[in-house]
Amino acid sequence: MNGVPHGLSATALGAASVPLVGASPWMLAPCAIVAGIAGLTPDLDTEHSLLSSRVPWLSWLVRQVSFGHRGLTHLVPLWVALAALSVYATSGTNAPWLAPLVGAWWAGGLLHLAEDAMTKDGVPLIPGLWTHWHITPRWFHFRSDSLVATLVAGLITIACIALVLVAYVPAAHDALFTGIRAVVGLPAVSAPVGAR
Ligand SMILES: [Zn+2]
Repeated sequence: MNGVPHGLSATALGAASVPLVGASPWMLAPCAIVAGIAGLTPDLDTEHSLLSSRVPWLSWLVRQVSFGHRGLTHLVPLWVALAALSVYATSGTNAPWLAPLVGAWWAGGLLHLAEDAMTKDGVPLIPGLWTHWHITPRWFHFRSDSLVATLVAGLITIACIALVLVAYVPAAHDALFTGIRAVVGLPAVSAPVGAR
């Protein structure tokens, strides 16, 4: 998957993580930015990625230790372990902004791995073997640079933005629930949900 879809979907997920964890709405922009950057970091292992072209020296450093493209920087157990450790380490701190930021970072990075795990090349699950692991069935493995890859990232982006709108904009909340009620055949509520 290319850098722009990775970055946009991770940015949107970072924003959506704020209402999900109950953090202050002031954290929306910081969490979105941090997650967006994290969503680009695994591809520092290739010269031609969006982030590598901005910080070529960092990409060079990463490429010395990454065991090729989709090696160490895409290793699922490593990301999961580091994410769990750092979220655990920061959740008890006095700074209420720290845990949401750290969580957003890992959410952005893990989303990158999840998106790559739907592509033909997959992501590694076992260090040293660099196996091609997928999270979707074989018929839903697409090329990284395909339209489907962009569509998948686009859908994730839209879903996350919708979640943010539903969380903070009463009109969006009402529209969603009115829509769902209409789809399942329930009568519209007399007063807007958000007004009660
Ligand atoms: Zn990648």
